[in-house]
Order: sequence, then structure tokens, then C-alpha cells
Amino acid sequence: MSDNQAYPADPVQARRLAEIMPEVQSTLSKKRAIIERWLREDSSGVFSEVERGDEFVVGALIQQNHRNWRAELENVGMALQRIEDGKYGICISCGAQIPLDRLLSLCWAVRCVECQANHDRRRRR
Ligand SMILES: [Zn+2]
Repeated sequence: MSDNQAYPADPVQARRLAEIMPEVQSTLSKKRAIIERWLREDSSGVFSEVERGDEFVVGALIQQNHRNWRAELENVGMALQRIEDGKYGICISCGAQIPLDRLLSLCWAVRCVECQANHDRRRRR
């Protein structure tokens, strides 16, 4: 799909997306603020007293969490950028239309399921 092709291809999805866009945008902004706060704060507070006893385990958990949060933050930022660019709901990897169901349950999705799986596999390697 080329960049100047009409978006989105499916008029039903286009209408539905237009309806939910204000909500999506506010959800994304809120989520971004929350994750940014998590990353700023001493996140050891999110673990229970028992887990806090083992510094090594907590350190690993925090590191893992920060990695996940940063990845999520990146997606949230990209999704907001996609809205600005008028390309929200289009997979950034293959250009396919991301199914509406996926966007409704995961509004910061910027890739279709297949591309996200490929992306996650590469990231883990
Ligand atoms: Zn894709």
C-alpha cells in the first residue's frame, strides 16, 4: 500500500474510527502519562514486601518492567503520531489495515498481529 492511497480503505472502519478517535486519543494520552510516571518513579513500590526482600529478583523485575513499559510507551507515541498523520489503524510494517477489533482492545496497536509477533521475536533475540 502506498502512502498516498486513500485511507482507510474500508469506509465502515473509517466511520467507526472517526467515532472513537477522540476516546482513543485521550486513552493514549493518559496511558502515556501513566507509563512516563512509572518510568520516572522508583518502581520498587509496585512490588510486594516479600518480593522486595530479594534485591536481585526485584532488580530483574524492575528491569523487565521498564523494558516492557518502554516498548509500550514507544507504541503509544507511535499511535498518537499516526493519528496526527491521519494513518491511525494502518500497520506501520506492512501497510495493511489493522482489524478494528484489535484497535478496540489495544488502541496503541501500530502493527497487525502478524507483524507485531515478528517484531516481538526480533526484539527478544
Ligand atoms: Zn502488518
